[in-house]
Amino acid sequence: MDAHPPKSFQSFPVMQYTTYQFRIKDSTSGKHLTRMGYSCNFVWNYCNEVNQERWKKFRKTFTNFELNKLTAGCSKDLGIAARTIEAVCQEYADKCKQHKMIRLKWRSRKRSLGWVPFKGNTVKVKDDTITYYGHTFRFWLSRPIEGVVRFGSFTQNSKGHWFVNLTMEVADSGRIKTGKECGIDLGLKTIATLSDGVEFSRENLTKKYEKKLAMAQRARKKKRVTAIHAKIRNKRRDWNHKASTRLVQEYDRIIVGDVSSSKLIKTRQAKSVSDAGWHGLKQMLAYKANRLGVEVRVVKESWSTVTCSSCSKRTGPRGLGHLAVREWVCSSCGSTHSRDVNAAKNILLFSLSGMTGQLREASTI
Ligand SMILES: [Zn+2]
Repeated sequence: MDAHPPKSFQSFPVMQYTTYQFRIKDSTSGKHLTRMGYSCNFVWNYCNEVNQERWKKFRKTFTNFELNKLTAGCSKDLGIAARTIEAVCQEYADKCKQHKMIRLKWRSRKRSLGWVPFKGNTVKVKDDTITYYGHTFRFWLSRPIEGVVRFGSFTQNSKGHWFVNLTMEVADSGRIKTGKECGIDLGLKTIATLSDGVEFSRENLTKKYEKKLAMAQRARKKKRVTAIHAKIRNKRRDWNHKASTRLVQEYDRIIVGDVSSSKLIKTRQAKSVSDAGWHGLKQMLAYKANRLGVEVRVVKESWSTVTCSSCSKRTGPRGLGHLAVREWVCSSCGSTHSRDVNAAKNILLFSLSGMTGQLREASTI
């Protein structure tokens, strides 16, 4: 990620674009989307053909404007919205320009995945349905939709499932500052423990699917193995998304320790370490914070578990061997600590005083 916010951020602080993707329910996508995809291929290939011919005769190519004129009026015959045809032409012209080509790849029914672009005003989105050119498709509303649809597309993946991608114009996030800050201790049993005692945990996904995975592997069912891996990945990602969103909404300033999974991966907990997915969580935190103007920092977390957060003497349990110790009493000041909350408190303290290690930009996570 870039250290500076993207340019569009600086010059247009009020409006932002966000793209959402939703899976269309198979029962409603049916043949309509596939047929519309074919029509888009037809427009694309037509552009490709006329472009080549013009080049052969006049050594000139068509601009987007000219392609629009050529393809105008065939919306009804093709069964797609006029604005979709325009969008295909635009994409074609842009790609030609970008790659400095007069001829692009043909879009074929067999090789190309379905693609139907549209402009925002050609679709109507209501709850979990989207109406496009007289057809209503239902999708899995996996998250609330905010803002106005500017443009979007229906796309198909290699498994043949259809998705709708909506690029929304969202007014300024409107995030009200909460004035709260927190340190986060990333762990295995509890994935994130905050300095104020809040815990974020989930089941160990690797463990949960271990048996199923082993069974599929023994039976040499390659497809099944891939599917299970995909499921674990999706679940972990989904959890990370939810946790990071909650964090950036609640805190103005978030400090994370630079926990090294490479050190822990050599221990008996290797599986849990890779299951925790700290890296993904940190990355999501960084980009979401950037979007909302929240500060995320990484601080060196050495000594965070050993140091007492009340008197800052190093009286806590040491080393990997003491990972089992969940609670301890400081021998110097007598305060009782929960191991993880104490570590999180220290991470926050380190960032304030610069006691241990240096602060680093969130982008270097
Ligand atoms: Zn103490």
